[in-house]
Amino acid sequence: MSAEPTTIAPHGGTLVQRLVQGEERQVALGQVSRLPSLTLDAHGVADLGLLATGAYSPLTGFLGRADYLRVLHEMRLTSGLPWSLPITLRITDGAALRDTVALKGPDGTVLGLLDVRDVFTHSKEEEAQLVYGTTDAKHPGVAQLYAQGDSLVAGDVRVLEHPAPLFPELALDPADTRRAFAERGWRTVVGFQTRNPVHRAHEYIQKAALETVDGLLLHPLLGPTKDDDVPADVRVRSYRVLLERYYPRDRVLLAGFPAAMRYAGPREALFHALVRKNYGCTHFIVGRDHAGVGNYYGSYDAQKIFDRFAPGELGVQPVCFEHTFFCRRCGGMASPKTCPHTPESHVTLSGTKVREMLRSGVLPPPEFSRPEVVQVLADGLGGARMTWSTLVSTLRRIGGLLRRFTAGVQPWDWDELPVRHWWDVYTK
Ligand SMILES: [Zn+2]
Repeated sequence: MSAEPTTIAPHGGTLVQRLVQGEERQVALGQVSRLPSLTLDAHGVADLGLLATGAYSPLTGFLGRADYLRVLHEMRLTSGLPWSLPITLRITDGAALRDTVALKGPDGTVLGLLDVRDVFTHSKEEEAQLVYGTTDAKHPGVAQLYAQGDSLVAGDVRVLEHPAPLFPELALDPADTRRAFAERGWRTVVGFQTRNPVHRAHEYIQKAALETVDGLLLHPLLGPTKDDDVPADVRVRSYRVLLERYYPRDRVLLAGFPAAMRYAGPREALFHALVRKNYGCTHFIVGRDHAGVGNYYGSYDAQKIFDRFAPGELGVQPVCFEHTFFCRRCGGMASPKTCPHTPESHVTLSGTKVREMLRSGVLPPPEFSRPEVVQVLADGLGGARMTWSTLVSTLRRIGGLLRRFTAGVQPWDWDELPVRHWWDVYTK
């Protein structure tokens, strides 16, 4: 093995670059006023930005009919390369479109040009069934698809304006992360995708993966998500405090992933892995129900989908984890693979339950989430402030805990937050 830092080749071999600069950009901007234009929604803007920087390599634009159909039915591009999600631009009526079209953001800013190659239609129901595994309009990805137009406009894009990132300091393009990995001498890097705060279970699987590779790319999705997901600015604060307190600085890179969430489960897990390969990751963590929503997918479907491809075809290596939790009997983080105890010993809470707790002023236990992270979330979600009512209810809880403590209840039987940790949370 070579001692030289290496980064994995982008998907398809070359990092695509569709950002037009300098004189070419000036010429293109001069043409815009004479061109018909299309206005992109937030999802379209996110896709355009990812096409611009090569995050979607080998794609150079929105998929044409042949690629679209092969992606739907076989999860491959016409070249045979694996690709699981159709990256498309849907509009109400594209019949009159030809040649070059200007692409505008929702605020009217010209973002780029589309050289129209193909305009076609296809059943949305079939796309929904094949991509999301359901035609149910209550699924957020399917709802998003159904809300779009019937015409698919395909062609290469030339991007004139890199969409403004929400968090400029976290805006690292694939070329930037690749450079950062090389500078740090990381030969192997594991990517972690999330649209949630990082709780102890996620910290555990990140660190378990990090034990076997050189670096970790913590790559939270910062594009559009569901309204009930934790807001991106709160999440970013929670990532920062966690990394500062609990991760070695020289082993982790935090960057934003400016994509929209599709909730396509298994297909999106594969897509997330291939896109992270373009960012330079050699490995990618796939957890339980990755990119899932509701009960649309089986718990481990997102891991099984990788078996449908030969390892050499994907390049990036999936690192699969089971459901993980803090076990009071083991006295540490564990999974069904490593812990022999019954679920009563395990501290597990759903994301929905945690948000409810935070909003009503109840803090999740430190076995579930680091106190510093809990505090950021509590502040961000507007709950858990020390009001009279929370003070009274908290004093009652302490009273209950003390009674149980003096009654000789064993610590692992507690289902509530131990006083010591409660105190830490409120006084730090
Ligand atoms: Zn255990």
